[in-house]
This record gives sequence, C-alpha cells and structure tokens, in this order.
Amino acid sequence: MAAKNLKTKRSRPVLLINIGQLLTLRSSSPGPRRGPELKELGIIEDAAVLCHGGKIVSVGKTKDALRDPWIKQNRKGIIEIDCERHVVLPGFVDSHTHPAFINPRLVDFEKRIAGAGYEEIAEAGGGIRSSVDAVRGASKLKLVGKVSGAFSQMAAQGTTTVEAKSGYGLSVESELKSLEAIRQAAKQWPGTVVSTFLGAHVVPSEFRKNPERYVDLICSQMIPQVAKRKLAEFVDVFTDRGAFTAEQTVRIFQAAQSHGLGVRAHVCQLSETPLQPLLQYEPASFDHMDCVTEADVAALAEHQTVATLVPGANYFLGLEKFPPARKLIDSGVPVALATDFNPGSSPTPSMPFVMSLACTHMKMLPAEAIAAATINGACALRLQNRKGSVEAGKDADLALFEARDYREIPYWFASNRCLLTLANGIICSAGKLLH
Ligand SMILES: [Zn+2]
Repeated sequence: MAAKNLKTKRSRPVLLINIGQLLTLRSSSPGPRRGPELKELGIIEDAAVLCHGGKIVSVGKTKDALRDPWIKQNRKGIIEIDCERHVVLPGFVDSHTHPAFINPRLVDFEKRIAGAGYEEIAEAGGGIRSSVDAVRGASKLKLVGKVSGAFSQMAAQGTTTVEAKSGYGLSVESELKSLEAIRQAAKQWPGTVVSTFLGAHVVPSEFRKNPERYVDLICSQMIPQVAKRKLAEFVDVFTDRGAFTAEQTVRIFQAAQSHGLGVRAHVCQLSETPLQPLLQYEPASFDHMDCVTEADVAALAEHQTVATLVPGANYFLGLEKFPPARKLIDSGVPVALATDFNPGSSPTPSMPFVMSLACTHMKMLPAEAIAAATINGACALRLQNRKGSVEAGKDADLALFEARDYREIPYWFASNRCLLTLANGIICSAGKLLH
C-alpha cells in the first residue's frame, strides 16, 4: 500500500468475527479508571465488531452480526476476518514516547553494565546530550525515517495511538525539525499520533552556565513558534534533579497555556519533585512517579491528572525499585502504562512487554495492566472520547492477539503474539493470520 495516501484512502468495511474474548473496556462513567474500576474489561465472548469509515459501527455477538441485514447485503464488499476464537482488545495507547532520535546509545549501555549511574553517565557527556548532536546534524528526512520505523514497530505489537515527543534538538531549529519529522511520519502511518514539544528535556551544553536563559528561549521563542505552526498539542518538562526546577516548570507551563497548549511533565524519576505547585495547571499526566510522596498521592487522587508509569526504564536501567503502582491504584490515582520508548533508558516499542513488567514487578493484575495501556492511556492524552475502548462511534483501533485468554498477553513476555492491528479502520500490521 502506498504510504502517502494512507490517511485519505477510503477503507473498506472490516468485520471481525469469532472473537473468543472481546475486551471492550466500555464504561458508564467518563474519565480515567481508578481503584477497582481498573479491573473492569467489559468482556464479550463469541463477539464480532464491524468497522466502517475508520469508526467502530457495531459491537456484539458473532451470531447477531451474521444475521444483520446490512452485513448480509454488503458481505462481498466487507473485509471479513475470522479471529478463530482469539482475543481482541482496543489498540494500545502508548502515551509517552521519544522517537525523534538517530542512534542507539550503546556506549551508555556498556558503561551502565560496568556500574555507572544515570547521572554519572550524563556528567561524562553521555545521556540525553549525546543524542542531541546527532539530531542537530541530521536531515529532517533521516529523522522521518527513524520516527516512521518506530511507529511501524509499535503497530506490530498492537499499538494504534502514540504520543511522540521532540527533545533531542534543544535549539529552536532542531526542535522544530523534530516536530516536523514527527508530523510527516504521522501522515505516513495509519495510527494516530499526538505530538508533544519537549524542549525542556535537559539544559543544552551551551546554556549550562545560565539555564534561565534557556527557559527564556523556550518560553519566548520555541513555544510561540510551535503553537503558531500547530506542531504540538502538549508541552512537556523534565522536572527533576539535574533537569528543570518546579519554578522553571511553572514558567514553561504558563507560556504553554497562554498559547493554548496542554501540559504534562516527567516527574519523580530521580528525586521527589514537588507536584502541588504544578497541579493548578491541570497537567494531562505526570510521568515516571517513582519517588512520589504520600502527600502528593493523596492530592492526585482528587485530580484528573493521570500517573503514567514507564517500568521499561526501570528494567533497562537495572533498578531494583519500580514505580509504586499498587499504592497509586489503591489510593484512587488513575494510572496509565507507556513504553517511554527512547535511546537512553527504554529502547522498547512493546506495550505487551511493559504490561508484563507491570504485572511481575509492580503487582498490577493483567486486567489492570490492560486498562492502563488502553483507556487510561487515552485519558492521559485527553483522547478518551475517541480511543481506548471498543464502542460504537469510537475510532476503529483494534488489536488481535494469539491468545484464548487475555491474561496471556502479559504472560508470554518478550514474545510478539499480535496477529493483526487495525488503526483508524486500516489493517496496518498482520502476522501469520494473513500469510
Ligand atoms: Zn520520557
């Protein structure tokens, strides 16, 4: 299929039948799932889903679908997929990724194996700053290729919506180039991409002696240009030790809001970021959350801000501690899961692997991990009206897994059992089913 026309190509209706377990994730209450609601998958057995025009048209039992007069009349024009009693669920919403980079960070990888810490590697010229030179020197086309490659790998593992951040340019020109590359790659991919401007990833070397001037540049030049050219929907800040302070984050959030952009932040990965000064800006999500305080957990339970946990980073950095998912869930904080796909701390495009880590290292139940990777991920991007559940009227984003029981998805770790991904009604990844 020619990549150029994917978004404009009118898709034929698609009918999935003989679904063993359809995880609808439907709910009567809007907003993110909290506490016990996170386990409710809304399972329909022997199910069918009809999609047309990029939307889900109907959801029900296979026998009812096959008796439906419209389906009977139009059957020849419909792409029919026999799911052979396997599991279908909403396509994953990966609400935290950094795909706009050029090279893997193999020197950092080996240094860490030899015992160096995250901050020690950054001090020695590795870390985020080492990816910056490559992005600044790369053509936009080269970046588009890298971002597109990441989106394809994600779709092959069941992801249909991706939040994609800039953040390895750290100059006006290279941040805009990164966001343009994300936009171009998004046009070539059938899934949905939400762009985030992360100029405040780390203070670049040339501003190290005067970080406030870099914050000025972000607020007075980068954000206005990003907003004017509609290159991002959110502004993100790495608010942690060695990156940006809460006060600097407040300035950046104010600039973002005055330009009509939503906000989100990396927090509590390395230290206890104070969250209360940031909550008044209603961030869509706070991500990482490893070192969140008791007081902030209680405050978050009263807000719509989603706590996005990225255990792939803990795994890859070889940390013993993982984000406190149980404490957050049991306190009523809405929790999402994401890959944090990036070259330094989490080079995985796989949501099923992240869900497996959530089960084994954070004591989340398989059902909780699935809701966190779908509907709550959609809430973290404020897309819950379109994404994250299988209901008539929502976007036709579905993933078919080789599994008789949904618990197999996080169970078979590091093994890709995704047979097919349907994104906005377009089949964009298929394994053995269509061979
Ligand atoms: Zn991140």
